[in-house]
Amino acid sequence: MEGQMKVIIKAEAGEGAELSEMKIPQIGPKDVLVKVLATSICGTDYHIYSWDEWSKKRIKPPYVMGHEFAGEVIEIGKDVTAIKVGDIISAETHIVCGVCDLCTTGNAHICKDTAILGVDTNGTYAEYVAIPESNAWKNPKGIDPAYLAVQEPLGNAVHTVMAGEIIGKTIAVVGCGPIGIMAVAVAKAVSAAKVIAIEVNEYRLDLAGKLGADILINPLEEDPVKRILEETNGLGVDVVAEMSGNALAIQQALKYIKLGGRMSLLGIPTKEVSIDLANDVVFKGITMQGIVGRKMYDTWFQVKGLIESGNLNLEPIITHRLPMEDFKEGFELMKQGNCGKVVLYPNNEILDNFRK
Ligand SMILES: [Zn+2]
Ligand SMILES: [Zn+2]
Repeated sequence: MEGQMKVIIKAEAGEGAELSEMKIPQIGPKDVLVKVLATSICGTDYHIYSWDEWSKKRIKPPYVMGHEFAGEVIEIGKDVTAIKVGDIISAETHIVCGVCDLCTTGNAHICKDTAILGVDTNGTYAEYVAIPESNAWKNPKGIDPAYLAVQEPLGNAVHTVMAGEIIGKTIAVVGCGPIGIMAVAVAKAVSAAKVIAIEVNEYRLDLAGKLGADILINPLEEDPVKRILEETNGLGVDVVAEMSGNALAIQQALKYIKLGGRMSLLGIPTKEVSIDLANDVVFKGITMQGIVGRKMYDTWFQVKGLIESGNLNLEPIITHRLPMEDFKEGFELMKQGNCGKVVLYPNNEILDNFRK
């Protein structure tokens, strides 16, 4: 398709981003061109916007930001077979090689040759985006595109919570940003016995409560180790979903995790974290596991099933819907932390439809 489109561009190394225009992308034989219906702001986008240490090393401006989205396919490459014009899709954002030993053994989410949509390639804060057919996830029709857009981070939450036994278990979700609150919702939906949410921001802690967390702990106000041991007859929690990346929070979690428990870590510490391996890991017989991305595509099927089950309450997760032009307001919300998911709409008609 020819023509110009509206985009949010990370124009240069430094803080911020700007509204701009560029050519609608051309697609290759195995790509699809998608009209973006809704695209949500990820923590990663906020890191890039604020130009933190990680971004300085990883991001090569100028490029179009954004990766969480839902859109309608409007053009397909000549070798595309599974996706049709008119399909409503979202995307697995890890673009992997498909041929290495990890990709061919069901571990594509840790492929060494991964490029990330909207990080290493032009992304979805745009009216149109081109993606490989192999990354397109076909959605059922008639679902709010905002819900479809957040499937990608929801997949992170599902991957973390479901990385081991969870039914009937007590779980602490440490850090209730958007993925943390989704982890609370997922744990409730799959029948965890008790969900404990730990978060320093009151707005987000309150949101965790709305999504069904049984116990809310603000670690700035009370000692989470003491409180959790009290709440669990001195035993501690079976599962820790670590979403904060905060060193102290991780050290505390190792004190209130039950003997033989599981700690699944998705949060990214900015530097090395010192832990008492002998006493807190070895002698407690716990399992610590790193969680990255979503299993391709096992996690996506779990996400789809959870949405279809009707057990997952997504509405409170999406706290703000804005025209794409108002992205700076969205990033300001992310900075303050007084939000769940912020969804941007490149097309105002779609947003207006929703508001009606
Ligand atoms: Zn994301
Ligand atoms: Zn690979």
